[in-house]
Amino acid sequence: MRKAGRHFLQIPGPSHVPDRVLRAMDMPTMDHRGPDFAGLGRRVLEGMQSIFRCSGPVIIYPSSGTGAWEAALVNLVAPGERVVMVETGHFASLWKHLAGRLGIHAQTLETDWRRGVDPNAVEDLLRRDTSHDIKALCIVHNETSTGATTRVGEVRAAMDAASHPALLMVDTISGLACAPFEFDTWRVDVAIAGSHKGLMLPPGLSFNAVSDRALEISKDSGSPRSYWSWAEMLGPNDRGYFPYTPATNLLYGLAEAIDMLHEEGLEAVFARHRRHGEATRLAASTWGLEVQCQEPLDVSPVLTGVRLPDGYDADAFRAEVLRRFDMSLGNGLGRIAGRVFRIGHLGDFNDLMLMATLAGVEMGLRLAGIPHQRGGVDAAMGLLCREASDPPATIAPARARG
Ligand code: PLP
Repeated sequence: MRKAGRHFLQIPGPSHVPDRVLRAMDMPTMDHRGPDFAGLGRRVLEGMQSIFRCSGPVIIYPSSGTGAWEAALVNLVAPGERVVMVETGHFASLWKHLAGRLGIHAQTLETDWRRGVDPNAVEDLLRRDTSHDIKALCIVHNETSTGATTRVGEVRAAMDAASHPALLMVDTISGLACAPFEFDTWRVDVAIAGSHKGLMLPPGLSFNAVSDRALEISKDSGSPRSYWSWAEMLGPNDRGYFPYTPATNLLYGLAEAIDMLHEEGLEAVFARHRRHGEATRLAASTWGLEVQCQEPLDVSPVLTGVRLPDGYDADAFRAEVLRRFDMSLGNGLGRIAGRVFRIGHLGDFNDLMLMATLAGVEMGLRLAGIPHQRGGVDAAMGLLCREASDPPATIAPARARG
């Protein structure tokens, strides 16, 4: 049946693709070995350094984020070597299983899935590894399954305090271009990202930003690799080319998305996400519903995980919202499946899109008979008005005519 109006894609990625990016990709496919390609190649490779805030190389793969997870590991870690995965949620857990399938010994640092990485726990664990067996610490910047953001700079400080040489690998698949990310300042060794979240593109590109130290170590360590090999990529990348067929039309979109992020300004992009996160959490608390992330310092500007009261099925609720309002909300994943639904407020997103999203949730709660207090939408609207990004224009009442 035809549904009028645009679908509301409020999952925490893939996110909305702006029309400007769609138009930019609407191009004839070009010869990726021809003379014109290098300009596009250089533009996106350098452009991504400005988004990661890194001075080292960025590798671009034609793959989903999972490919970039694998790439980070196989370029540095050999089967049988040890890494620590901090299990902040479902995605950290998936990355750990991937490492296990590669024969890497992945040790878990557990959490309750309700916060980001605890820097003190990292410091304790690394201090105990006196033989420096741990090759890498793997953390998720923004855990998309729960809505918790890790303070990566504090984790780096904890590693320094423990004087441990482990490489720092950070999955910022849903964090990049939504929340501040400082690759060089935080001395990240490998950052992993994807196209379909803050970068506002369709799925299909993934990224590894790589430090000089990681690049050096990768030369004589890691697992057997070919498609994911950084060395194979870096040669042709130097001249703006790729060793195999790149996702050319997605690269046109990427160039446009990078321009758009800089036109708005990365700090303004982060502030917009922060404000939408605050408004969403205020709506949830007004409804009397618990937010999955319980650490105030770690609440995510990208998405909000909301818990339904005991006995109410979050997936049935999401199905009802989809059926009635044509809005997709994120499902609960792993051990919080059915308990939590997730509201994505990331990427190409504005105040009215947020208000419509929250209205869809509040109407859904009401129609599905889920116990809640009314007024969440109103509270969020109040916050957005109070904390408008521009000073409000005061409009005087018009004088009576005639
Ligand atoms: N890591 C995080 C934090 C994610 O949010 C996702 C996907 O949503 C992934 C990894 C896996 O990426 P993909 O599904 O693109 O392979």
